[in-house]
Amino acid sequence: MKDNNIKKNYQSQHTLAETKSGRDYLNGRLFETLTNFFTHILNRPFKGKLLDLGCGDGSFVEYCKTQGLSATGLDIDSGVNFEHNRLPYPDNHFDIVHFYAVIEHINDVSNILGEIKRVLRAGGIVIIVTPNFDYTVKTFYDDPTHIKPYNPRSLSYLMRIFKFKEEFVGLWTVKKSSLIWKLPLKLQFLIGRVLPFSGKNRYAPKILTGKSTTILGVFSVGSKEMGSVGADKESENGSDMYNLIKKLFPICRSITGSGVRETLDIIGGLVPLEIREIATGTKVFDWTVPYEWNIKDAYIKNSKGERIVDFKQSNLHVVSYSMAVNKKMTLSELKFHLHTLPDQPDWIPYLTSYYNEDWGFCLTHNQYQTLKDDTYEVVIDSTLTDGCLNYGELYIEGKSKDEVLLSCYVCHPSMANDSLSGVTLLVSLAKDLINKKQDLKYSYRFLFIPETIGSIVWLSQNENKTSNIKHGLIATCLGDSGDFTYKKSRQGKAEIDQIVQNVLEQSGYKFKVNDFFPSGSDECQFCSPGFNLPVGSLTRSVYNEFDRYHTSADNLDFVSPEALGQSFKLYQKIINTLENNKTYLNLNQKCEPQLGRRGLYRSLGGQKGKIDIFAILWVLNMSDGKNSIMDISIRSGISFVDLVKTASTLVAHNLLKEINKE
Ligand code: ZN
Repeated sequence: MKDNNIKKNYQSQHTLAETKSGRDYLNGRLFETLTNFFTHILNRPFKGKLLDLGCGDGSFVEYCKTQGLSATGLDIDSGVNFEHNRLPYPDNHFDIVHFYAVIEHINDVSNILGEIKRVLRAGGIVIIVTPNFDYTVKTFYDDPTHIKPYNPRSLSYLMRIFKFKEEFVGLWTVKKSSLIWKLPLKLQFLIGRVLPFSGKNRYAPKILTGKSTTILGVFSVGSKEMGSVGADKESENGSDMYNLIKKLFPICRSITGSGVRETLDIIGGLVPLEIREIATGTKVFDWTVPYEWNIKDAYIKNSKGERIVDFKQSNLHVVSYSMAVNKKMTLSELKFHLHTLPDQPDWIPYLTSYYNEDWGFCLTHNQYQTLKDDTYEVVIDSTLTDGCLNYGELYIEGKSKDEVLLSCYVCHPSMANDSLSGVTLLVSLAKDLINKKQDLKYSYRFLFIPETIGSIVWLSQNENKTSNIKHGLIATCLGDSGDFTYKKSRQGKAEIDQIVQNVLEQSGYKFKVNDFFPSGSDECQFCSPGFNLPVGSLTRSVYNEFDRYHTSADNLDFVSPEALGQSFKLYQKIINTLENNKTYLNLNQKCEPQLGRRGLYRSLGGQKGKIDIFAILWVLNMSDGKNSIMDISIRSGISFVDLVKTASTLVAHNLLKEINKE
């Protein structure tokens, strides 16, 4: 794009735009025309958050603000290249994008149409105004910055390719009766040629010269799958999660100590994490925060002085929370403290001894069998002292105080799938939600805690906050290629249980849903009867059901970016569904409203139309204030996404209103 040329061209040609009163006059006409169009053709008010893309001097933005719209403008001289750059706005941010006399200046529109779609909310509208080449063949290229001509057909096709829904394509008339827009397309343009006005572009209609030849194209964004549009590509393909697992994998973590702090520091470098500290000895319900465990080194040396088992080779070699030892002993004495997996002779097991004072080493069964009678030097250079328990907490404030809790554990040493896959998925999800913060209905609380004791600590210190938790998930074991598994909350019929099951059914993946059981991970604390929070657990292979669970084989080869990316998208979809699962009230409950009069029978006839009308009837009938869109989806068998779209159409027609479900 020759940005400067466009600018110069506008400024030199259009003298009317050079005085404030001239600009106000033109912007007023533009505003009135759009208001007229929205009211009479789209049946919705010209209101909401507007982005004027290619806003020139920004005076239309200013004008919109005086009319009560929340408007923002971006022009080509802002340094944002429409063909290549991302627009500087979050996803789903605007209701309307005004794209006036710009598209014909752009050679490759794929970036900007993708970006328009990204920044518009589901149901959002893009208004495109551009010359109709059918009637401007002779004059189109008089403007040297015009690159691509459109006629109504080519504009429709283009937008269809980019999966926009056509609301209207016709004549751009300024301050004319809305009746013109209801005429057949050809007639509109014929009339336009004799109307005493040309709306060629914003600042310089050749006033009262006749031949209105400009197209008004209005398109909407259908139901958006938050996550598929505009999501971070690196999270979608799992590469950022995989790389973070790689970085965190070597650290020796336990429920307390420097390994947890190092891990939280790394996460804190990626998202604004608050790192909390609870002192050893603090009473937390029936438990006490344990001593802090740290380890520098550990080994078993044979009589030749060779380290035959070495903590520095694998942090799994030492039983977590082992007390310090420094002793010489025979093989038979040592064997009491050695642990192996005879069934998996190549793998080192992962064992812990948090709450009874003991020490031990883990090694492969193959190595164990080679051990000879000898005098062994056994050293564990660890400390168990007063200190603290650390955890990380991240709160993203949405519009409501109601919260979604997302929790994972940071207490496992080198385990890629168990623990780290959940940790890294939640880091990516937090980044994604921070990006979408302005549009979030719920607030989100992320916990990066040591398993069990961490959730007990959090619950005991935050009892007053638990009533805000409306939904929750524990994230772990999400990087292997196993089928998805959902463990329901103790409530069993909570909204999160409904939604996860529905999203899994729609996903096309194989999956399994298990009822709640009181063993496993932190869900057991959140779902203890004194709290009974709606917190489930969504994993791929379930912990302790896969062979590599708690062994050295739960390593970087066991997890893949592909599997992590799939899991991430599934979590995103669940969040998206939660955010959109609204409850409505039918405003016309006594018998069906007359849909035909409102143009709502319009699409009836084709296969798609049939579904639309059933969706409308289901939403109207069930919206008595008690059923959410998900309830209606489950009962009707119509997809959630279709029902969300239907409900927003009905809201626009004043047949439905959103309410808070009791
Ligand atoms: Zn585990």
